[in-house]
Amino acid sequence: MGGSKIGKMIYNFGGGDAEGRTGMKNLLGGKGANLAEMASLGLPVPPGFTITTEVCTAFYENDRQYPDGLREGVAESMKKIEAEVGKEFGSTSNPLLVSVRSGARASMPGMMDTVLNLGLNDETVRGLAALSGDERFAYDSYRRFVQMYSDVVLGMEHHAFEEILDTYKDERDYYLDTDMQAADWKAIIEQYKAAVQQKLGKPFPLDPEEQLWGAIDAVFGSWMNDRSKTYRRLNGIPEEWGTAVNVQAMVFGNMGDSSATGVAFTRDPSTGDNHYYGEFLVNAQGEDVVAGIRTPQNLTRAGRMRQGNDQPSLEEVMPETYKELTDVFVKLEGHYRDMQDIEFTIQEGKLWMLQTRTGKRTAKAALKIAVDLCEEGKIDEKTAVTRVNPAALDQLLHPTLDPNAERDLLTKGLPASPGAASGEVVFTADEAERLAEAGRKVMLVRVETSPEDIHGMHAAAGIVTARGGMTSHAAVVARGMGRACVCGAGDLRIEKDGSAFTVAGRTIAKGEQITIDGATGEVFAGAVKTIEPELSGDFAKLMEWADKHRRMTVRANAETPLDAKTARGFGAEGIGLCRTEHMFFDAERILAVREMILSEDETGRRAAISKLLPYQRDDFRELFTVMRGLPVTVRLLDPPLHEFLPHTDEEIAEVAQAAGVETEVFKRRAKALHEANPMLGHRGCRLGISYPEIYEMQVRALLEAACEVAEETGDAVVPEIMVPLVSTKAELATLRARIEAVGKDVFAAKGRTLDYLVGTMIELPRAALTADRIAEEAEFFSFGTNDLTQTTFGLSRDDAGSFLPLYVRQGILEQDPFVSLDRDGVGELVKIAAQKGRATREGLKLGICGEHGGDPASIAFCELVGLDYVSCSPYRVPIARLAAAQCALAGEED
Ligand code: ADP
Ligand code: MG
Ligand code: MG
Repeated sequence: MGGSKIGKMIYNFGGGDAEGRTGMKNLLGGKGANLAEMASLGLPVPPGFTITTEVCTAFYENDRQYPDGLREGVAESMKKIEAEVGKEFGSTSNPLLVSVRSGARASMPGMMDTVLNLGLNDETVRGLAALSGDERFAYDSYRRFVQMYSDVVLGMEHHAFEEILDTYKDERDYYLDTDMQAADWKAIIEQYKAAVQQKLGKPFPLDPEEQLWGAIDAVFGSWMNDRSKTYRRLNGIPEEWGTAVNVQAMVFGNMGDSSATGVAFTRDPSTGDNHYYGEFLVNAQGEDVVAGIRTPQNLTRAGRMRQGNDQPSLEEVMPETYKELTDVFVKLEGHYRDMQDIEFTIQEGKLWMLQTRTGKRTAKAALKIAVDLCEEGKIDEKTAVTRVNPAALDQLLHPTLDPNAERDLLTKGLPASPGAASGEVVFTADEAERLAEAGRKVMLVRVETSPEDIHGMHAAAGIVTARGGMTSHAAVVARGMGRACVCGAGDLRIEKDGSAFTVAGRTIAKGEQITIDGATGEVFAGAVKTIEPELSGDFAKLMEWADKHRRMTVRANAETPLDAKTARGFGAEGIGLCRTEHMFFDAERILAVREMILSEDETGRRAAISKLLPYQRDDFRELFTVMRGLPVTVRLLDPPLHEFLPHTDEEIAEVAQAAGVETEVFKRRAKALHEANPMLGHRGCRLGISYPEIYEMQVRALLEAACEVAEETGDAVVPEIMVPLVSTKAELATLRARIEAVGKDVFAAKGRTLDYLVGTMIELPRAALTADRIAEEAEFFSFGTNDLTQTTFGLSRDDAGSFLPLYVRQGILEQDPFVSLDRDGVGELVKIAAQKGRATREGLKLGICGEHGGDPASIAFCELVGLDYVSCSPYRVPIARLAAAQCALAGEED
């Protein structure tokens, strides 16, 4: 049974040495490995031992039986601790007490909490009292033990114990735990034990050996409890990893006023500032500091001044121990070459180290610490680049609420798209656009959004919806645009007449100001002050270092000059996707667009199109001026025409009048344009084939604009004309010939030429599978992974919200494939297309422009496949730059 052979099961540490090391985290868990490392560095660590994660795995493989020899091994290691500290486990005169601590590879909520003071019972507690000469301390330790053990090992609810203690204190007018004397604790312990007997029908275990194994069993048992399982599933931690168990001699921070316990960071985890940061409590034990029973004191004098805390710091009350502690900080940070999060205890003036680990930090702190450590010569640039999590940078790339501003919270929905914004409430996309054009800042509030609202979403400073999840239309589009968005604010009701919304009993009328924080999902009344993001200081420096190690270039998806400017400011090296249809929604143009669509013949269409050409050319001129010197990929018209259609009879009449056509004709035509499944209908290059004049106009507009910008600035963009939704080589060949004809025409008229490329988006499985043939006509491929995901899964993103979350929860899909590229399916198609394309055309330019272009895991895949660039929303450009550098560096290592 079991099969796998098990190696050394127990690793001892203490007495200035250890059998384990930091590098053995997989075997010893994070806590155990670092305790061993600290002991081997000669730091004061109470002696103990770690039972390996392999024992945990063997335990589960073997029907919850421990491997042979484990019991003997534990007994032997307990003897080692006894020898080291000169005490005996279970002795009534000189008792050894231990803590039992869980410790997986990665710290994991759901695992068993630590049990302290194990080994105490009615007899050993007397030994502890005699030994310490402090009866109160001994019984305080005992009651903590009974409570912790009953809670974490026996599964009693801890509030039962809190109630007993509160009642006891109330009856005696006690206020603090420190008011409790030895006799009080004795009485409490009896009540605790009685509560256990009553609840569980058996007595609290008093045999130390039974206590020890009870706790060890509980740690291993907690690996398979529901909370751990859920956490593992959500975080992709495999079951086979297992947890380790640490057993360690107790040291006591609750032995009076020269004792204390605390936590510390070697640098400030929220700002990254290079000063010690931490808290401690005098005469306390274990989790008291974080439990908030008393207000902890600051570690340093400077820290207490910063916080305006008038209780003295450790630096002030125990200067010598403080000095010793900070020497340890220097040693540990130097050793691990990163900011450390440390737990310590002081027993009667003597310092003991109980834990160290690389400390969690905010994005801002991560940048500062990485840059500082590099400049201090502790790490090199490459290491600094790997130290910052690209996804965390998102926190720094959007406007944020001014932390000092007052807030009036209305409601909370889902944090759908980060950023803070305020504006006056409007309820329709048209109104949003109208007011925005008049220079006002608006907040678009909708039950939900649809593609028809895009112009309003673009015009708005932020978006709130009452319905919809993290992958709803509003969320996806807002993230793409970098608009702040709160979705699914379920208690928000919009009045039928569109005059106001109500939430939590309050009414906010149209035109009133609200503010949203898309990073938290909060919606506030009024305009709360915000702060703009910028790429400067440590952030800019780290980006510069990252750029040195990057292979792929990073572009942005942008169509407006403003978005393009933002993207350039964040370091975009071109535009990977300019969607031309956004340019059609503008109030002035939509009329001409509608006329174009509704015209029944080419003459009618050409008349309308000639009105659109100057607008489109101006758009491109502006965009190309911002992006001059860089490549810009322009996608020709893609969505089904009906997205632009008027809805009401009045609107149709308006278009008909402008075109000088009978209203009835246009009505008929609008009906005829209806499609059963527009996503798979008359769209993309299919429009270009059936209405050649549309693409011709677009190509003319963009090439004329490029020539003019080159003329004026002497610096040209390189237009990359992208044909969408191609599935056959013939489609592209047909359109390419037309594009080139327009090019010749434009260059002849302008008396100059210009380099440009013609290529296609690979967003249909057939295109990927026939990429070798398509590449005969294409100078570049851009992977449109949004549509490629939809068409590969046969799944509409807009409709996936009703079941996709369940798929992810049940583990049927590991991740939402619209968020992180599905490597096995969609990724395989990308790989095939890249290989086939390059087999036909060496040096075929390859990029990605789906939302995945801003997702670090998907970017790593693009690196593996050898794409030339990734393109993402402007606000994700720095994330992509860093992610691209990290995966290039990871590749270097292999
Ligand atoms: P967590 O993983 O929740 O941090 P730990 O195992 O680190 O749990 O234990 C929590 C706290 O218990 C520690 O910070 C420390 O203060 C205390 N503790 C653990 N072991 C001992 C010990 N041997 N002696 C004194 N205190 C201990
Ligand atoms: Mg800890
Ligand atoms: Mg597409």
